[in-house]
This record gives sequence, structure tokens and C-alpha cells, in this order.
Amino acid sequence: MLLYTPERIIVDQAVCREQFTQEILQKFPSVPYEVVESYAWHRDESHPDPAKNPLSKGKKTLHLKYFPGISFKPCPGTTEGAVCCNYFTIDFVENCPLECTYCILQAFLNKPVTTVHANVNEILEQVRERVLSQPQRLFRVGTGEHSDSLALDPLLNINKHVIPFFGKLPNAILELKTKSNYIDHLLDLPHNGKTVVSWSVNPSYIVAHEEFKTARLNERLEAAYRVSQAGYRVAFHIDPMIHYDGWEAGYTELVEQLIAAVPPEKIAWISLGSLRYIPKLKSIVESRFPKSRIFLGEFIKGEDGKMRYLKKVRQRMYYVVQRKLKKLAPQVTTYLCMEKPPVWQRTMPRLPKDDDELDLLIARGFQQQSVAGCDV
Ligand code: SF4
Repeated sequence: MLLYTPERIIVDQAVCREQFTQEILQKFPSVPYEVVESYAWHRDESHPDPAKNPLSKGKKTLHLKYFPGISFKPCPGTTEGAVCCNYFTIDFVENCPLECTYCILQAFLNKPVTTVHANVNEILEQVRERVLSQPQRLFRVGTGEHSDSLALDPLLNINKHVIPFFGKLPNAILELKTKSNYIDHLLDLPHNGKTVVSWSVNPSYIVAHEEFKTARLNERLEAAYRVSQAGYRVAFHIDPMIHYDGWEAGYTELVEQLIAAVPPEKIAWISLGSLRYIPKLKSIVESRFPKSRIFLGEFIKGEDGKMRYLKKVRQRMYYVVQRKLKKLAPQVTTYLCMEKPPVWQRTMPRLPKDDDELDLLIARGFQQQSVAGCDV
């Protein structure tokens, strides 16, 4: 994977004295930067139609800004009626330097910059306050909602602050979700067993044809092994599953590769999900990635407005993968992402009775693996 270098940096006055901002500027002494009162990208560089937006340009400009709102929130990706895993997200970065053809960010991040919320410590204080206000529950918190959690981290080093912070919280787990292999800088951090590093994975064929600029599958798996040896829990998201010629052999082999790469007792959870997209993404993908084949197949619009494969196709895909996982790693917690009870009933060992039970199931999976690993 090529290391990311921005072509320019824009710094809002409000964060120009933050230590975090200074560290980034020092890393790139030859990259031009400008300090502005408050960068109003929407006035001068955006276009209301995301299809015509300079998406590629946005991946090359870093905008360091003060985030004034509440960055810590329940995962917005819920679907009415779906079994939801009660996940929380923190937004440190919006936009991503990688180029997956199916990336949903293309349809709604209509700005020509990659935004970094530079008031990291303030945002972490929001997390502390919320998490400690409910000491009886275990929060699972991810940073990969509007970006890849690690693709920019060798440059930003945000997780140097975030991982030790979560290491000291009694009732929260951090999940860093990535398609990169940038883990060297994490290996010696004091994670205290409270960070899960997870990889979104697909068969090598899909990685090669639909996931550009990402680490190849073997690189992701090697990175997963290395963080597991550093005491981190590892998780995998087989998501979005793509229905392509040869999918059954591809996903079966993928499960074998995952379990061969990381000992099952080091795997906190594995989730499954299939391709879903909002209709306006299609024309954007067709113009940016004309060779992509992700829209081949029959799709149906769900109540949430998203297009998905027909239910019987999704069920068959989940069933094949779940069966293989059960055979090779029966102790690992698995769950479906954004699927309703009938799909669970036909594919998974059991249907959680509600969102809270799924939340508990995943948390228990993590805690059991932690006990087996003896480092929490
Ligand atoms: S890694 Fe995630 S956020 Fe980045 S381009 Fe791919 S799907 Fe989008």
C-alpha cells in the first residue's frame, strides 16, 4: 500500500495551536498549507450533485478543523426492523484516501476535502462523560463510520491518543476498522486489551477488482496476525459480500484464509453483510469506475430505500459462509449486519430476541475471548 501524502493542508484558526495540528504540519514541511478563519468549502468548491463533485481532489486535501458538536453517537446505519448491534461511533475523520467502488461515502460526502477533527482530546472527553454515565453497560465504539480507521493514521497518529484512552475506560471497547495494513505504530501502545482491530475482507478477486488502493487480502491478514501477537483482539467484517461468478468458492476460501491467519481464540467477532446502496450511488460509481461489476445481478429496494440482493440470494450467501465458520471456528461470535429476523432465522444459529441481546452476545464473545487470552 502506498503511504498517503496530502497535496495541500487547510487549517482553521480555531485549531492552529493544537499540538495535534502542529505535529501534522511538521510531518509535511513541503506540503503547502494555509490558515483560514473558517474554511467554507461549501461556498466555493462544492457542487450540489455529488456525481459531479471533485471526489478525487477531496481525497488529497486535508482540512484540520474544530468540531463543535457531539461527535460520539449511536451508529446511524440502523435499518427499521433490522436486528441492530447498538454500536456507537466517533467521527475523527470524514473521507477516505482508499477507493472502493461500492463506497457509500461517494454519495453523501459532497465536499472537496478530507476533514480531520483536530480537537481530539475534547472529543474524547465527550466519550468519557457518556460512557461513565452508564457504568452498567459495555459500549462498543468504532471510528470507521466516515473513513477507514487506519488508512491515514501513520500520518495523523490519532490512535496514539485514542487507544490508551480506551485502555483506561472500564466499560468501553474501541474498534478500529480498516482495509489497510498500517499497524506498526499500534504494536507498542498500551491498549490494555480494550481495542479490537478489525478488517473488512473480501475474496482476493473482489479486492483486486473493486477495492483499489487498499492492502491486498494477504497483507491485511498478515497485519491481523501481527496485531493479534501484540495482544489486540482481531475482528473481521465479511462485508459487503458481492454476488459474483465463483462467489461460493471465493467466500469459502476466504473463511479458510481468515481462520488460518489468526487463531480463533484471538478473534472477537465476525460479521456478515451483503452489498447495499442508495440508488444515487449507481451513477456515481458508473462514472468513476466504469469497469466495476458490482451492479450486476438483481436488486430490490428495501423499506430503508437501499438496494439489496434478493432475500434468497443474501440468505444463500450468509448460509454458506456461516456454515463454514461454524465448522472451522464454532466458538467465534458471528452476526449479520442490517438484516431482519427472517434472514437471521434462515442463516444463523439463533436469532437474538432484541437489539440488547445482540449487543450482549457480541460483548460476551469479546469478554470470553479476553479471558481465554488472559490479558484484560
Ligand atoms: S475503505 Fe471504507 S471508507 Fe474507504 S473507500 Fe473503502 S469503503 Fe470507503
